[in-house]
Amino acid sequence: MDGTRSKNGDETRAIGPEVDVLVVGAGPAGSAAAAWAARAGRNVLLVDMAEFPRDKTCGDGLTPRAIEELDRLGLSNWVLQHPTTKGVHVFFGWEKGQRVAWPKGSFPRYGSVVTRTELDHRLTQVAEESGASLLLGHRAHAARREEGRIVEVELRSTSDERPVLVKPRTVLVADGVRSRFGALLGRQWHRDTVYGTAVRAFMRVDEQWEWLVTHLGLSTPEGDHLPGYGWLFPLGDSRGNGEVDDSPGFLLNVGVILYAAAKHPANTSLKPLLDHYLAEARGRFGLRGEPMQVKSALLPLGGAVSPVAGPNWMLLGDAAGCVNPFTGEGIDYALETGRFAVEHLDEADHSASWPHRLNYEYGSMFSASRRIARGFFKPKAFEAVGGAVIRSPHAMDATVRLMANLVSPSDKGPLTGLARIGGTLSQRRDAHRPFFPLAEADPPVPQPL
Ligand SMILES: Cc1cc2nc3c(=O)[nH]c(=O)nc-3n(C[C@H](O)[C@H](O)[C@H](O)COP(=O)(O)OP(=O)(O)OC[C@H]3O[C@@H](n4cnc5c(N)ncnc54)[C@H](O)[C@@H]3O)c2cc1C
Repeated sequence: MDGTRSKNGDETRAIGPEVDVLVVGAGPAGSAAAAWAARAGRNVLLVDMAEFPRDKTCGDGLTPRAIEELDRLGLSNWVLQHPTTKGVHVFFGWEKGQRVAWPKGSFPRYGSVVTRTELDHRLTQVAEESGASLLLGHRAHAARREEGRIVEVELRSTSDERPVLVKPRTVLVADGVRSRFGALLGRQWHRDTVYGTAVRAFMRVDEQWEWLVTHLGLSTPEGDHLPGYGWLFPLGDSRGNGEVDDSPGFLLNVGVILYAAAKHPANTSLKPLLDHYLAEARGRFGLRGEPMQVKSALLPLGGAVSPVAGPNWMLLGDAAGCVNPFTGEGIDYALETGRFAVEHLDEADHSASWPHRLNYEYGSMFSASRRIARGFFKPKAFEAVGGAVIRSPHAMDATVRLMANLVSPSDKGPLTGLARIGGTLSQRRDAHRPFFPLAEADPPVPQPL
């Protein structure tokens, strides 16, 4: 092959068939990985089957953990041009609510809400500005492997199916929740632990809010209780994904997430649940108009996939199941895993080191929260615990910190130790430890990196 051509603003430049790093998927995980790899001096090709800007079904909420990664990428000022949030206004039922400010600790004390149309486009620009080549409208279609190593990847143009062959030294697979390219490499999703199905839409209100609003527990129009939560996230004067109408007011991203597991399948359609949630919220929160751009998607949660690596490839972000089992948020983990993967590029073989790294970073939190999330399937216990927690500001503060994974090992205090010990004990009982197939050996001892 005599090279393909990459878009870089108005310029095009030739990319040889041989690249140091091929990144498949230009969501937050792929763009962050491409940016960090290019900054580390690698020759990087970032490929996505979509043309950007593109929509991505999401709640658009950025936790302080995500803000920290965007800061590292140099986007602090850009983030501050968007609405910022002070914390979460958590409701249990419709009457009992409490505001919990983003906690003190090592993370920034604010969050934000930015449409994925805008965020992901900006991140592809950051990757290009860092020196990566961007090839859009191309799908990673097939991989040729020798002894597990990917030696050649066939990309296909989504417009005319024209093939482009790339010979990468390393492949970073950031192709999202369904991870079809990951599946070619043997990736399996283990549905024995909790997973989510979620639907989002856009609506309007008359005022800009400074708090994320969530309602724990869902109910059907018939009054049955279901495991999950609803959200109303303030997008300010954003134009959403660019396809919403242009009536006045401030935009909200609204949605519901329903939890399920192999033994607790979600047999309920999401759209009626969303409609019911919004009907309840409309008068109380001043929602206007009809929901726009209603879209749903699956969420594998808590590292419930394996294998996440081979000799010269690593799975990142949603492809690696890096989504918080309590909240369903994963932009922060996508950005982080993009950065972490680049720290491993010099290794001869990633097959063992990458699952251990992911497990070191997230294993204990994901394992414990997957286990606790099973409580969602016991409505009476959930109501008893939730009703007690919502009455205590301290308990709420601790719960939000744990649920949003805003407990960093560098933070002092009993909560940090409790989270680590609880997670380690939980992993010992896991059939599938996060990022590993069926447990065959003792949990790995975390090694400082
Ligand atoms: C309804 C809903 C609400 C959510 N709300 C939140 C929230 O409020 N906050 C939060 O932090 N997280 C939220 N999440 C989770 C969040 O959306 C994901 O964790 C995040 O998008 C993961 O980023 P990623 O880069 O791994 O994958 P993605 O963002 O999915 O990007 C994957 C990219 O890969 C491309 N691709 C796929 N296959 C190929 C291929 N073969 N070749 C080339 N390109 C390919 C796709 O076009 C896409 O651009 C939500 C998810 C859902 C479904």
